[in-house]
Amino acid sequence: MTEAKGASARVYEENIRDIQNRPGEMRERSRTFAVPEKLGEALAEIPEGTEMTLDVRLESVHEGILASTKVQTTMSAECGRCLKNFTTPFQVEFQELFAYTPTEAEEYGVHGDHVDLEPPLRDAVVLALPFQPVCRPDCPGLDPESGELREAEAVVVPNVDIDPRWAALAGFEAEDEPDSGGTPESTRN
Ligand SMILES: [Zn+2]
Repeated sequence: MTEAKGASARVYEENIRDIQNRPGEMRERSRTFAVPEKLGEALAEIPEGTEMTLDVRLESVHEGILASTKVQTTMSAECGRCLKNFTTPFQVEFQELFAYTPTEAEEYGVHGDHVDLEPPLRDAVVLALPFQPVCRPDCPGLDPESGELREAEAVVVPNVDIDPRWAALAGFEAEDEPDSGGTPESTRN
């Protein structure tokens, strides 16, 4: 992806002049800014203008600059089950080497006195965005007949300590007493 970008995309650039060609040097920086252009193309995205915080560690190595980045922001999505729009905290980390002399086409390079975190950041964020977002793990979704939100209580698990192996069966326990001689193989003595 090589497209012209405006000055606003500079928010992803890191000046590395003071550690360039000085292996062993390291800098840590944090900053918060508004996302200049939305990230993501599907049901989940980081909209333009969303606040994003980057914690960046830049390490000077012989080949170039190794950047370790933690991204914290807010995702906006449409629930794949109930179609409700919701927002939720979103976090992803990535590490990338920016080489002084990139040897392969897919390798990122140092440009003058800076590195541009945008391409690897965009890749990392888009990869980590959920393909089928749900507003909450137990969202019951819409009733296929009425189109209304289903009653949530149908899927609520009793609030007691249950062996995780049995948790999935807990809802059926009452009417699912074993009445034949055969007992489940996992029954303990
Ligand atoms: Zn939902």
